[in-house]
Amino acid sequence: MDRLAIVVPCYNEEEVLKIASQALRGVLADLTAKNKIDSSSFILFVNDGSKDRTWELIEEEHRLYPAQVCGVKLAGNVGHQFALTAGLLTAMERSDVTVSIDADLQDDVNVIEEMIDKFHAGNDIVYGVRRERKTDTFFKRTTAQAFYKLMALMGVKTVYNHADFRLMSRRAVEQFSQYKETYLFLRGMMPLIGYQTDSVYYDRKERVAGESKYPLKKMLALAFNGISSFSVKPISMILGLGIVIIICSLFAAVYALISYFTGHVVPGWTSLILSIWFLGGLQLMAVGMVGQYIGKIYMEVKQRPRYNIETILESEQEQEAKDEL
Ligand code: UDP
Ligand code: MG
Repeated sequence: MDRLAIVVPCYNEEEVLKIASQALRGVLADLTAKNKIDSSSFILFVNDGSKDRTWELIEEEHRLYPAQVCGVKLAGNVGHQFALTAGLLTAMERSDVTVSIDADLQDDVNVIEEMIDKFHAGNDIVYGVRRERKTDTFFKRTTAQAFYKLMALMGVKTVYNHADFRLMSRRAVEQFSQYKETYLFLRGMMPLIGYQTDSVYYDRKERVAGESKYPLKKMLALAFNGISSFSVKPISMILGLGIVIIICSLFAAVYALISYFTGHVVPGWTSLILSIWFLGGLQLMAVGMVGQYIGKIYMEVKQRPRYNIETILESEQEQEAKDEL
């Protein structure tokens, strides 16, 4: 039987912690009773440097339910993505499959069962996808939608309307741990891992209590981090713009020369306007060109794994040699 770890990043979540713990313990009990997961499955709360009583509450839950509730305390606030990674990597060594979910229970805990079913059907990653965003404010909904669109435009592959509610098998987390880059944008990295994946759909609810820990500033930072971690397209855009402007300056040259010969211009205007357009374009192109190399260096220093082997069909001799070991 597979041991499940539910990973929950928490930042100033004292209002919801007890409620989340209760709901998730309910899920564990239910799945254990249905014989879908091992009875040693557990919840792992990651305290992301909360300034309120979150950690005291996690300790208390651990005292009350030592078998089901575990905790990791980070030394300071590092943000959702890093906190989640800390949780996943800690859980990796202690479980067979992980499910990550936010503490505020906006994501439907009842689809965890469906995720586990899909895991048993052979999927290594199961994405929780929001069906609609009725309960989100108009502002949150449109900005979030713009965010996914922008990502797609910049060539970052993400699963539309999927945040960080997802199931990952142990080997998927292990493969993820091979990505040594510091800046993480988990949603963009999961599709890189490969393996067989599936999605489950749910309606996103309102926060149980407390308020969003993702103000606009953090959302913009996440979007920028996502794009700059996965795409060098902005650099290519600069290069493209430079080339377009140089071409434009050729047309401008024709126009300026015609104006010059028809004599409608102030002396000096022609050479001035041509220099501005041409040099402007040339500079942009040069910056874009240098940028291409910097983009390459950037991608190289990440040292991402080049591939991920899923299965090897081995020869009989090889198998026997392994069996003997
Ligand atoms: N979170 C975190 N560190 C942070 C900010 C948020 O661990 O610096 C956690 C937070 O406790 C929650 C999850 O990330 O479990 C998602 O945050 P939130 O629900 O506030 O975001 P929203 O749903 O409003 O986008
Ligand atoms: Mg939330």
